[in-house]
Amino acid sequence: MSLLPLKELIEECMNCTKCPLHNVRNNVVFGEGNLRSKIMFIGEGPGRDEDMQGRPFVGRAGQLLNKMLEAINLKREDVYIANIVKCRPPNNRVPLQNEVDACLPYLRNQVAIIAPKIIVCLGATAAKAIIDKDFKITVMRGKWIERKGVKIIATYHPAALLRDPEKKYPAWEDFKSIKSELEKV
Ligand code: URA
Ligand code: SF4
Repeated sequence: MSLLPLKELIEECMNCTKCPLHNVRNNVVFGEGNLRSKIMFIGEGPGRDEDMQGRPFVGRAGQLLNKMLEAINLKREDVYIANIVKCRPPNNRVPLQNEVDACLPYLRNQVAIIAPKIIVCLGATAAKAIIDKDFKITVMRGKWIERKGVKIIATYHPAALLRDPEKKYPAWEDFKSIKSELEKV
């Protein structure tokens, strides 16, 4: 897929039927935020609240993400937030490989438009799609890699922090590292 300008990209995404998730969505969740942001956060896919509202990270995990952003002096409006798949997988199951493969060109196009200096993968699904298909979140989170001048890191998904509060400490370490990298770029 060749790169599209934002308006055309949104239009195409909103009408997308490239994978079976289009059959069960209420809304496509394209992503949102500051188009000039130096930093992009990438989640897995819409949950129930996101599917109902058509906006990323607006449910419980989103509330926690907002708090973590505030803790490193970032507001939602300062950053850009998107997901690996733009339509909600049934019962919030992990997106299948064919769904990820079908949807990833939209994210690549978004990244090309926003041209962030830093990409933060929230959770294993984003890290596997973006960094390495064999990514192990417990082992490889918090480590920076650089690709084409873009610094990339993965940390726990906020939903994982809600399920397992013991992950909050390492996640906070990752966010401090993100804050310090952001001050350099
Ligand atoms: N979880 C995600 O991965 N993305 C969202 O937008 C909301 C919850
Ligand atoms: Fe299209 Fe992505 Fe939605 Fe699948 S998840 S229908 S590829 S927008």
